[in-house]
Amino acid sequence: MSANRHIRGRHALVTGGGSGVGLAIATALADAGVEVTICGRRAEALEAAAAGNDRIHGIAADVTDEQSMLDLFKAAESARGPFDIVIANAGAADSAPAHKVTLDDWKKTLDVNLTGSFLTVKPALAGMAARKSGRVIFIASVAGLRGYGYVAPYVASKHGVVGLMRSLAAELAKTGVTVNAICPGYVETDMLDKAVNNIVEKTGRSVEEARAILSANNPQGRFVQPQEIAGSVLWLCDEDARSVTGQTIALSGGETW
Ligand code: NAP
Repeated sequence: MSANRHIRGRHALVTGGGSGVGLAIATALADAGVEVTICGRRAEALEAAAAGNDRIHGIAADVTDEQSMLDLFKAAESARGPFDIVIANAGAADSAPAHKVTLDDWKKTLDVNLTGSFLTVKPALAGMAARKSGRVIFIASVAGLRGYGYVAPYVASKHGVVGLMRSLAAELAKTGVTVNAICPGYVETDMLDKAVNNIVEKTGRSVEEARAILSANNPQGRFVQPQEIAGSVLWLCDEDARSVTGQTIALSGGETW
């Protein structure tokens, strides 16, 4: 299948596009001829991501702040047209036993991963529905499909993202807009490094031991690479994937089914 035949010239939003998974998605979309607006809170990460790539455009914005996202939509859409593709990728993960999670920790994780995903896609929905075209993709997690210990707020937020995706897919089915969630296992990014460092700090294990513990979650015994997620995004954006909606697509080496 020749993915991305139909997406050249489109306009995409990738939240958290300055690093990790988001940067891989932004780069792959730009390579396929898409104009890509990326956002995050750190302007320097966005500038570094956009450097040398004429199709990547950074706008600092916080997904937890509704006005910040509305300002982003206004600036990006007036410069490059309405978003055809919206990727809600920005996210954060912290780990602790559930009884030690403070209300503040809980709210912070839900705010970024769940409310932030809603505020990312909401401003795009009416326009996509009216144009009868669009792709909405959430970067959820295998933690949106099953439970894991010591990450209760993260698991709850990612289950929420999957529920949001299913609701929007049902609501938009007749419009031709598709809505899906990609659910990766551990991906080799800064977020993984943070999880490894947390194990090292809390258990005294070496980095190698901590990485071995985490990669053992994946039956293939490896970490997913950000480019693999970008490949699935390109496929979901293709016209050939127009029947794929309301789906969770696990990229986890068979960790979930
Ligand atoms: P990452 O490198 O830490 O990227 C997270 C991105 O989100 C950063 O670019 C960050 O930019 C942005 N972000 C965080 N809070 C934000 C906010 N309030 N407003 C705007 N942007 C914000 O981690 P990653 O691994 O690429 O994660 C990307 C997505 O993949 C997340 O949703 C994560 O849950 C999911 N995922 C990751 C893994 C994994 O093992 N790495 C596995 C499954 C799913 P700023 O700091 O500049 O704001």
